[in-house]
Amino acid sequence: MFDKILIANRGEIALRIQRACREMGIKSVAIHSEADADAKYVRLADESVCIGPAASLQSYLHIPSIISAAEVTDAQAIHPGYGFLAESADFAERVEKSGFVFIGPRPETIRLMGDKVSAKNAMKKAGIPCVPGVDGALSSDSAEIKKIARSIGYPVIIKAAGGGGGRGMRVVHTEAALLNAVIMTRNEAQAAFNNPVIYMEKFLKDPRHIEFQVLADSYGNAVYLGERDCSMQRRHQKILEEAPAPLLSARARNKIGERCAAACRKIGYRGAGTFEFLYEKDEFFFIEMNTRIQVEHPVSEMITGVDIVQQQIRIAAGEKLSFKQNDIVLKGHAIECRINAEHPYKFTPSAGRITTWHVPGGPGIRVDSHVYTNYLVPSYYDSMIGKIIAYGDTRQQAVARMRIALSEMVVEGIETNIPLHQELMIDAAFLRGGTNIHYLEHKLAERIKVK
Ligand code: ADP
Repeated sequence: MFDKILIANRGEIALRIQRACREMGIKSVAIHSEADADAKYVRLADESVCIGPAASLQSYLHIPSIISAAEVTDAQAIHPGYGFLAESADFAERVEKSGFVFIGPRPETIRLMGDKVSAKNAMKKAGIPCVPGVDGALSSDSAEIKKIARSIGYPVIIKAAGGGGGRGMRVVHTEAALLNAVIMTRNEAQAAFNNPVIYMEKFLKDPRHIEFQVLADSYGNAVYLGERDCSMQRRHQKILEEAPAPLLSARARNKIGERCAAACRKIGYRGAGTFEFLYEKDEFFFIEMNTRIQVEHPVSEMITGVDIVQQQIRIAAGEKLSFKQNDIVLKGHAIECRINAEHPYKFTPSAGRITTWHVPGGPGIRVDSHVYTNYLVPSYYDSMIGKIIAYGDTRQQAVARMRIALSEMVVEGIETNIPLHQELMIDAAFLRGGTNIHYLEHKLAERIKVK
């Protein structure tokens, strides 16, 4: 096992990884920008290194500074967390070439999955059902593009092969709007992801977003830890997740879960990963694979008892998975609310000093956050400042506990989206379960009309 791990991230996930290291008796190195210098989790780490100014490009995304920090602190492995460099094949490669272990899949795998066109092709070959569409990138031939859209059938969605974070996609309902949308998406893809490759698939009208968590070691063993329902989204970004997915039968779960594990074995996947699907009319359609830990991993941890971050570290250290698929038993229900520093109705970011931070507790409540009273939320980074996870024997109990937790939580000095989560916890459609990916947007539109 490693003696020391460098955590190439910030905020709640940096603290989450640090806690996993501590439990395993591994020393941790926190890297931080100047904006995060005073954060408590930085001080809690065994060592810390300032790697640059607040701007991510000069700190959390600056590969040479991170490698140097690992060198000066003698760390053996680097955990990338999520976001920033977590899905950069170049980073993983540089880490390994510099003699450190990258806690994640092999760089080739990250590269394969980072391009959504190649990912879809690889998954199709590995027996995973994909969203109907063309197999390759779109050419610039107008007649050809129109032909493809007609063969798929409108509405279609144009997506950037290198896209992420819910950006770089455009829905097209008619042929008249097609070519313009293609050009706009291509330009955006080039500007935002430095990759003009785009592709087209069927736009599913009312799917749910259901994803499967997998773990695979370097010896060809792979398991799935059930699924998460992440359909509650705003602008293609998740805000609330739960496990298991409401109303999904064990038969459907096991069938697709087995296929995900088999696909991992087939492509020699290593580490933790997530297969993301759209689920419509009892059918799963693969959209992408994330080759890293995800924000919503705690809900799977709560219902399986598996510490996914510790497993990532064990796998990277060359250990074999210590359990088989049969050992994974899903028990109870877990819901996660992402707490964002933003206006609850306008969604504008709300950075600044937190004057009061009081977290809930009690049975089944877990709070993953690096925040405390007097913490200054920097304006440079993502607005998520923490997560409340509620666990219960049943979904009903998890909801009841989440309601209490949200009512106990006090955040003063900045605005948060807690009021929105409180509305969701009493929303009739949410309580029935199984709402689709458009539900929240519709609800928000209605909410604005009422106000
Ligand atoms: P990103 O990598 O940016 O998160 P994804 O491919 O995972 O992009 O898609 C994000 C979200 O966009 C999905 O959860 C879903 O809400 C929506 N979406 C993507 N593809 C489709 C599709 N073919 N039909 C309908 N919605 C889609």
